Amino acid sequence: MNFDSLVKPSVRTQPVYEPGKPIEDVARELGLDPASIIKLASNENPWGPSPLAMAAAKRAVEHGELYPDGGCFALRNKLAAKWGLGADQFVVGNGSNEIIELLGHAFVGPGDEVVMGAPAFVVYKLVTLLFGAKAVEVPLVNYRHDLERIAAAITPRTKLVYVCTPNNPTGTANSEAELLAFARGLPDHVIAVFDEAYAEFLERAPDLRPLIAEGRKVVCLRTFSKIYGLAALRVGYGYGAEELCRLLNRVRQPFNVNAIAQAAAIAALDDHAFAEKTARENRAGLALLEHGCAGLGLETVRSVANFMLVRVGDGTGVFESLMRRGLIVRPMRPYCMPEWIRVTVGTGEQNRRLLEELRFLAVGGGHGAS
Ligand SMILES: *Cc1c(COP(=O)(O)O)cnc(C)c1O
Repeated sequence: MNFDSLVKPSVRTQPVYEPGKPIEDVARELGLDPASIIKLASNENPWGPSPLAMAAAKRAVEHGELYPDGGCFALRNKLAAKWGLGADQFVVGNGSNEIIELLGHAFVGPGDEVVMGAPAFVVYKLVTLLFGAKAVEVPLVNYRHDLERIAAAITPRTKLVYVCTPNNPTGTANSEAELLAFARGLPDHVIAVFDEAYAEFLERAPDLRPLIAEGRKVVCLRTFSKIYGLAALRVGYGYGAEELCRLLNRVRQPFNVNAIAQAAAIAALDDHAFAEKTARENRAGLALLEHGCAGLGLETVRSVANFMLVRVGDGTGVFESLMRRGLIVRPMRPYCMPEWIRVTVGTGEQNRRLLEELRFLAVGGGHGAS
């Protein structure tokens, strides 16, 4: 069977997303006990899901026979109260990844350009290509988004510009002043998308709401996957210009966010204790990993997110060696950084184990940085 003549050209050449390797895959392939494997590959919350969210999710399952509220009424109103915005200034997605796709559906087509940093979250590029548009990648400077260079890459064909801050995979952030000035300088035909998936890990996240109040074409993306530990449930949201949110809501599936995820997200927003504990422990973990890597002579990029880049020499080799020892990290070859791995900040115990394994490799494993 051959579908070459049927498939759309953009699909024929579409690159495939490479996720962090699941624990079950590693256990099966290497004959390891899944319970013994530590995954520090997808920036998941090492403290599990928010307990309040988990309890709400269990209650919601009891009504699993009913379709969810397609409009996410209760969640959008809860978010509106949290942010001091209107409920119509939100769009909720099956993960914030879905909102990236909705932006493609609503705004991106052949002949269009989408501007993004490189390396940044790879999904911006994948969605751009899927909709037949051109991904314009602007290299980071010192592992950070250079907003002037990004602004300079905008042309009359540009539809969207993505700024991921803190950025995945580098863990670096741009300041509020930089972001506000950048957005205010954009031409009117461009939509600015600020991906704030890791904003809750900052001591103080930039407040970009003035841009919305000024009537600018902006949308900010947030997720429940990271700080609230709900990656399995798939729920995230965008907040921004009301008209923009209306258009994004028009192109989504009628029941894009399931009822269990909605209930869990609503409860998570009240779980300040869990979010604060996660952010606090994460900061301690970042310091431990940074210090530990320095002690091993390994270069890192200073991160304000819940992950860190470590320059190990042969990134793929170290990834494979660690995996054989039951530790899953992320090789950075797909991000054109073959000498690096990205490690998620784990619990204190997981972080110490990671450092032990890196020390073992650096001394006797043959993959260490020289
Ligand atoms: C993890 C992550 C997300 C969140 O994706 P979800 O679909 O909400 O799980 C979004 N953007 C970036 C940059 C991320 O790293």
